[in-house]
Amino acid sequence: MKRPPDLVEPSHPLHPTQAFRRLPLAARPFVRLDSLAVWESDTRSLPPALGEYRRQLRRFAEEVLLPRRDDGDSNQHGSVQSEVLEAAARAGLLSDLLPRPIGTTPLRRMRHSLVFQQSLKMEELCAACAGLGLLIGAHGLGTMPLILSTDLALLRRELWPLYRANAGGRPRLLAYAITEPGGGSDVEDADGARRYKPGCVARRVPGGYRLNGRKIFISGGDLAHAVTVFGALEGEGMESWTCFLVYHDAPGFSRVRNEIKMGQRASAATELLFEEVFVPDARVVGPLRAGWALNRATLNISRVPVGAIALGIARGAFEAALGFVNRHSLAGRPLIHYQEVQLRLAQMQIDTSAMRGLLWQVSRSWAPTQTQAATVKVFCSDTAVGVCRAAMDLMANHGASYAGAVEKSYRDARLTQIYEGTNQINRLAVVEDQLEAWLALG
Ligand SMILES: Cc1cc2nc3c(=O)[nH]c(=O)nc-3n(C[C@H](O)[C@H](O)[C@H](O)COP(=O)(O)OP(=O)(O)OC[C@H]3O[C@@H](n4cnc5c(N)ncnc54)[C@H](O)[C@@H]3O)c2cc1C
Repeated sequence: MKRPPDLVEPSHPLHPTQAFRRLPLAARPFVRLDSLAVWESDTRSLPPALGEYRRQLRRFAEEVLLPRRDDGDSNQHGSVQSEVLEAAARAGLLSDLLPRPIGTTPLRRMRHSLVFQQSLKMEELCAACAGLGLLIGAHGLGTMPLILSTDLALLRRELWPLYRANAGGRPRLLAYAITEPGGGSDVEDADGARRYKPGCVARRVPGGYRLNGRKIFISGGDLAHAVTVFGALEGEGMESWTCFLVYHDAPGFSRVRNEIKMGQRASAATELLFEEVFVPDARVVGPLRAGWALNRATLNISRVPVGAIALGIARGAFEAALGFVNRHSLAGRPLIHYQEVQLRLAQMQIDTSAMRGLLWQVSRSWAPTQTQAATVKVFCSDTAVGVCRAAMDLMANHGASYAGAVEKSYRDARLTQIYEGTNQINRLAVVEDQLEAWLALG
């Protein structure tokens, strides 16, 4: 595409490219013009192990997810899901929360936080397709309570065989089940939990527990090989919440139905039923009554990659809009030649860069605070919806049509404001964390 004729050419003496050449040599290290695409310059700014990983992820997303995006969106149970999961398993993306030899993450990448690795992964996958991205990413959420239990015997016995199968290209997914028909926010927020009567209950029996209850909206619940499911001990409240590992073939476990949802459709949200499911003591994850702590700790980690899902969706919408304004003309002028369009593009890029800046800053930590995790989740998901809306504005009819792909981004982005705690619940998490500090300033 030719440059807009009314903008100053890079060869003009007033263009910064030329102007900066007139600066004294000693001043030059302090100024920099970057004509590289932001993705490329951001990738170059990463430590080598992460930069290389980001490039691999982008290749994987463009080769495996992008061509299957529309099929995945229109059919939750097609061959698309199995093809994608097999490819993800072979690429090591379903066994990457632990280093080699148990997991598939190279040791040199493990010098950087898991949160950073997962955030890079979710942005790249979700820039191609957030539904297929979530299909892969929700497995990490299901795995996190096992990792956080730090119970080496449990990890060796239960996670290692699953990871071995995954690394061999035979997908074995884990799903994470907290939400109940009577409790969404109440199982994510201490105030609600204090008053909530748990719907999923474990009764003590010889050698283990019998689990009864229902969980809803469980991502990947339809395909999960096993579920990390949270329930209260019989006769006790949420303080007794405990995490149990239930395999798909356990008698009494069934998958009731999948929701018909507005976005991220390639990943099903499934209702799961537990009827007198026996869970042996050896499959209690973490100490008894440590379920609430495992849940809150898992969310503090996973809310950051959820911000990355939102960022990936926003970037995908921005790139789709860029392609469109380069290809389409209005009154004989390419859309990208209109200043109003350029300003919209600049704002979309500013918004996605701000999301990434915050996300990467928080991702450097192995242990993001509750405030940091909730801040990333709320900021990125709210901003992503705005970027997708801007993409739809720019693309007009094409934005509203399925072929334009941004109506899907818009639907996909909206869900990131809801899951891992609605954004209101995430704001409450900031209040919970910060209230003492705020009061101290009064
Ligand atoms: C696509 C998708 C995937 C999901 N995946 C999973 C999964 O894998 N595993 C899982 O366990 N769950 C999952 N969920 C569930 C998700 O985490 C919950 O849906 C979410 O927490 C909202 O719960 P709810 O609908 O019951 O809202 P409710 O709790 O009924 O809340 C209703 C409204 O009240 C607001 N609200 C609630 N309490 C307060 C308060 N104290 N102050 C102010 N406002 C408040 C909420 O923000 C919301 O606007 C998923 C959901 C979706 C949509």
